[in-house]
Amino acid sequence: MVQLIFRKFEELGTLNAVLQYLVTHHIQIGVRVLSGPTKGDLEWHRPNRATLQNLLRHPTYAGAYAYGRRQVDPRKKKAGRPHTGRVVKPCEEWLVLIKDHHPAYISWEKYQQNIAQLKSNQNRSNEQGHPRQGVGLLCGLLVCGRCGGRMAVQYSHGQDHHRYICAREKVDYGGEICQHLSGACLDEYVVDQVLQALEPAALELSLAAARHLEEDRLELDKVWHQRLERAQFETDRARRHYQLVEPENRLVARQLAQEWEAKLQAQQQLQEDYERFCCEKPKQLSPDQQQQIRRLAQDLPALWSVPTTTQAQRKEIIRQVIDKIIVTVEGTSEQVQVMIEWSGGFSCQAQIIRPVAKWTQLSYYPQLCERLEQLVEANLTTDEIVDCLHQEGFRPPKRRQTFTREIVQTLIRHLGLRPRPLPKAREPLSEHEWWLPELAVTLGMPTVTLYNWVRRGWVKARQQPTSPKHWIIWADEIELERLRTHRQRPVGDILRQRWKGKVPTIAIPPE
Ligand SMILES: [Zn+2]
Repeated sequence: MVQLIFRKFEELGTLNAVLQYLVTHHIQIGVRVLSGPTKGDLEWHRPNRATLQNLLRHPTYAGAYAYGRRQVDPRKKKAGRPHTGRVVKPCEEWLVLIKDHHPAYISWEKYQQNIAQLKSNQNRSNEQGHPRQGVGLLCGLLVCGRCGGRMAVQYSHGQDHHRYICAREKVDYGGEICQHLSGACLDEYVVDQVLQALEPAALELSLAAARHLEEDRLELDKVWHQRLERAQFETDRARRHYQLVEPENRLVARQLAQEWEAKLQAQQQLQEDYERFCCEKPKQLSPDQQQQIRRLAQDLPALWSVPTTTQAQRKEIIRQVIDKIIVTVEGTSEQVQVMIEWSGGFSCQAQIIRPVAKWTQLSYYPQLCERLEQLVEANLTTDEIVDCLHQEGFRPPKRRQTFTREIVQTLIRHLGLRPRPLPKAREPLSEHEWWLPELAVTLGMPTVTLYNWVRRGWVKARQQPTSPKHWIIWADEIELERLRTHRQRPVGDILRQRWKGKVPTIAIPPE
């Protein structure tokens, strides 16, 4: 199996391709258990990036013995964490290297070629994948709401388009992409939120909140001091009790000594807790600094958009106010849940719309189809259908905001919807009955509007009992007059009356 991996790397040239190959062929990797009760056993794991990389980089497969591959770089060491700062050194800097130490899978030359290949892959992906001045404002802040992994930014068409993608499962295990969304829509939303949060009014609120926090802390500090005093008092008392006891009463003395020690320990613990409380104290801004921030807030929206402001500066501002953004795409639909965690602990949640490629991805696709079918059956023209869909708030997929005749016609054809020719299907009408489109012409109003009146129950209408279910409206001379008057009233008027819950002034004509 090790042979296979080396052969495949030579053939395919990248870790990703090897990983993909192993996953496609359901090949597992054998790993020796290093600790625990089953130590030394061979276990079979699904292939992952880290294991493959380790295999390709490790000199033992080239028959070499090496010591000191990983050395501590003092610059990368973090204070208080003993295991940080270890870096893998190039082979010239290893402390010990004995070639031809044991039987090898690959030659030393091959090993060095592989290392060089890995390095050049890495450089290439650095150049392509992470332009420093990239448009992806939010990289590093995004967390996948599905799996908790970090989301990365990916560019296409140079740097013009970017998307955010959760690909941990794909990169590490050759699995599927977890979720992705267009970068522009998320950037736009977050920038909007950031600018709102930094508006002068919002800023005053957070400055006030900081003051409240300070007052709260003063209160807490008082409570702490009372607790510390009580602890001091109790320790003193225990000490006095111990000192007063006669040395002959050994048992009592031992008991009191223990009590004194317990009190001392409790007091010390409390003191440490208090010191921690003091360390966690949030930074206070001086009045000068506050004034400076207020001035900046006034200018920020203008500064944000001028060309001299770099993308790096914008990123920096966003990072100052936001800790984390959790993104969850609902299924494969256009709906995305976004949770922003602001620095300072406050968080807010919203739903945004991402562009999707297919009609069927739209969360309202079933409703849209149903509505379209109704509109086609009602014999509306394509233009009328377009108007109607816009009025009802439907949007097509991709980045489009509006429907066009072509889009609607394509969708109608795709769904196999066909308006039937009117005359054949029509049933004979009774007295004072009208077909909806004809009445619309008589009243001089758009068919869509009349159709909306039907839906709102503002006219007396029925549907033809047999399919196609065309609308038939009842209107005698008086009703016609009423509808004409109704038509001249502003829509806002009519809606307002309904809004107040009043009985509509339009009377339904008697049977
Ligand atoms: Zn994920």
